[in-house]
Amino acid sequence: MITGNFKTESPIATFDLGHELGAELRGGEIILLDGGLGAGKTLFTKGIMSALDYDIDEVTSPSFTLVNHYAANLNVFHLDLWRIDSDAAFAVGLEELLDDPLAVIIIEWPERLGSFSFNRRVFRVEIKGDGDDIREIRITDVEDA
Ligand code: ADP
Ligand code: MG
Repeated sequence: MITGNFKTESPIATFDLGHELGAELRGGEIILLDGGLGAGKTLFTKGIMSALDYDIDEVTSPSFTLVNHYAANLNVFHLDLWRIDSDAAFAVGLEELLDDPLAVIIIEWPERLGSFSFNRRVFRVEIKGDGDDIREIRITDVEDA
């Protein structure tokens, strides 16, 4: 599995790292994307989706929709919890999304969930840097199920 510390020197490199993670997915994984506004969470998600043979132009920020569904090689739900200030798991129907054991769930602003136990394989992707900066990206495997 692709875990470790990486530096990306361009938007394309951030996308490509997402693609590498996407290529490892088998279904049922949770991906938590940490990082401030403009860090690259949505771009990284486009990279993941490109590995699942999905049209990346259809991958957009769910900051208003809250949940985007992509019927790719795997079923993917892309969440953005930025606007939710309480009980985020309930607001997006997270338990229902978890009913599908093979769905991949990608979550921007996962800190809004508080402590939530997924009982799934969970990856955390922490992206540091914004603007034109090089991004420092750490990928860890945080929960095994
Ligand atoms: P978020 O979803 O975290 O708010 P977005 O993915 O929407 O952020 O936007 C990230 C921005 O950062 C994009 O404009 C992208 O081109 C830029 N970006 C990503 N990685 C790099 C990098 N390594 N160097 C410079 N810019 C980057
Ligand atoms: Mg985003």
